[in-house]
Amino acid sequence: MAPKKPLKLPLAAAEVDRSAHLRTDEKYLTSAWPKAEVLIFANERFSATSNQLRFQKGSELGSYQPETDYFLGVKDGEAYFVRHLTIDQAINIELKTLREVGAFLPSRDIGLAVHAQGLANWHQKHPMCSQCGGKTVAASGGSIRKCLVDNSEHYPRTDGAIIVLVKDDKDRILLGRQKVWPKNRFSTFAGFVEPGESFEQCVKREVLEEAGVELTDINYLGSQPWPFPASLMIAFEAITNTPELARADGEEIEEIRWFSRQDMKAAITDKSLILPLEISVARQMIKAWYGERADSDLKGNESWR
Ligand SMILES: [Zn+2]
Repeated sequence: MAPKKPLKLPLAAAEVDRSAHLRTDEKYLTSAWPKAEVLIFANERFSATSNQLRFQKGSELGSYQPETDYFLGVKDGEAYFVRHLTIDQAINIELKTLREVGAFLPSRDIGLAVHAQGLANWHQKHPMCSQCGGKTVAASGGSIRKCLVDNSEHYPRTDGAIIVLVKDDKDRILLGRQKVWPKNRFSTFAGFVEPGESFEQCVKREVLEEAGVELTDINYLGSQPWPFPASLMIAFEAITNTPELARADGEEIEEIRWFSRQDMKAAITDKSLILPLEISVARQMIKAWYGERADSDLKGNESWR
C-alpha cells in the first residue's frame, strides 16, 4: 500500500490565536474594539463582497456591545471580533453563507468564520438558563453565557459526529443517499456520537444501521468543524468484508451504491452522481481515495450541501 497522505480538510484552518486569556479582560476588549477587524454575522450568513468575507473596523460600527460582539482572537497584533445581528438588523447588508464562500476563503478567514458561526449559533439558541429557566447574557467576550438569576456559567457546545469512508477488499467505496437529498446526490456515512459511545463504536453502529455491513480496520483520518449548526466531524475509513450484504435501511438512507474509480468517473460524466460540497469532509475523503486525477475527473456536479 502507498503511504497515506494526510487528509486536507478545508474548514480545519486556524491562523488567529484565540487568546483566551484576553476574554475576561473587559478593559482590553473595549480598547481593542475601535481598531479591530469585525465580521458581521446574521442568520447563518456573513457580510461578504464577491466571494470574500467583509471586515469592518469596530469604529465604523459604533461602540463595543458585549451582548452581541464576540471576541475571536488576535493575529499579528490585530484583534478580531464578530458582531451578531438579528435578521431585521441585517436587512440592508449583502450576506453569504459559509457553504457559498467557504471554498474561496484564505485560511485565516475560514478559521474565523467557523469560530464565529459556531459561537453565534450557540448564543442564539441559549437565551435561557438550562438549570433554572432564567435569562442568560453573553460574558467573557462572548465565549460563555451567564445566568442572571443563579449566576451559573454556560459553555458553547460542540456535537461530535463521525463520518466514514467504507471500502471493500477490491478498493471500491460505498456511498449512500439520504431520503431528504435530491436524486443522485450521494455521500459517505455519518452520524452523531451517542452518550457513552466511543468514536469507533459509533462508526460501527452507524454503518451497520444505515447500510447493513460490519466494519473492520477502522482508521482515523482527521477532523474539521462543521458549524451547521454545531458539529465537529471526526473522519475515519474502514473495510467491510461482506460488501454483498450492503443494503439501505430505507429510513434515513434510501439508496446505496458501490463505486470503483471507473464507476465514479462514468457516473460523473453521465450526471448520475452528485458529490458533496468541496468544503466537506466527505468530498475530501472521496478525492483522497480517487487519487491524483480527482480534481479533473470529479469536477462539476457539486451539490449545495
Ligand atoms: Zn439559572
